[in-house]
Amino acid sequence: MKEMVLIVEDEQKLAVLLEEYLQRADFSTCCLADGAAVVPWVRERKPELILLDLMLPGRNGLDICREIRSFSSVPIIILTARIDEIDRLLGLELGADDYICKPFSPREVVARVRTVLRRSTLRKELPTGLFLDENGHIVSLDGQTVNLTTVEFQLLLLLHSHAGRLFSRAQLMERIYPDQRIVSDRTIDSHIKKLRRKLEVAAPHRALIHSVYGLGYKFDDA
Ligand code: CA
Repeated sequence: MKEMVLIVEDEQKLAVLLEEYLQRADFSTCCLADGAAVVPWVRERKPELILLDLMLPGRNGLDICREIRSFSSVPIIILTARIDEIDRLLGLELGADDYICKPFSPREVVARVRTVLRRSTLRKELPTGLFLDENGHIVSLDGQTVNLTTVEFQLLLLLHSHAGRLFSRAQLMERIYPDQRIVSDRTIDSHIKKLRRKLEVAAPHRALIHSVYGLGYKFDDA
């Protein structure tokens, strides 16, 4: 079965272009232009990934992203008009998996969609009471379900599979964003912060991810 990508974009030309490229890459697609229609659609149709424009009629993309994250860990890639807006967006802790700056090449969007989906379908059973289900980024920790974004999942997987090893932010960025995009240290810090918070909620007495001041992060279940 083809994977469904929901394109939320009110510029019709752009939406059609994205549809063409994604369909050619063997995805099935659906386009929505009205922000108010997105959440009900996602609840009902459960797409594999969402491309989400921020400036929309009906409802803005920030609200939409937040609400979706309250019930789903579906990968979300935000489309935004300005690169300098991305830092601000990261600070808002929207739970998006990736950001793409407009104008973009449709080819680049397809590549990012593939990367994000590849991360999210990773499946691995982990010891120490951690288990990842087949959706790839829902983790069970000590029997508690933890909903992770694909980036958070990828970070956890990487750190855990090299338990005890210290990773610098630069090393984490390189692994998480292999396309060598420029992301700031804050990007990694922000994802790690959210990941740790989620793990702490599930298992308050277990500190699993440790920050080593000025150096980076490591997984340690000591
Ligand atoms: Ca728009």
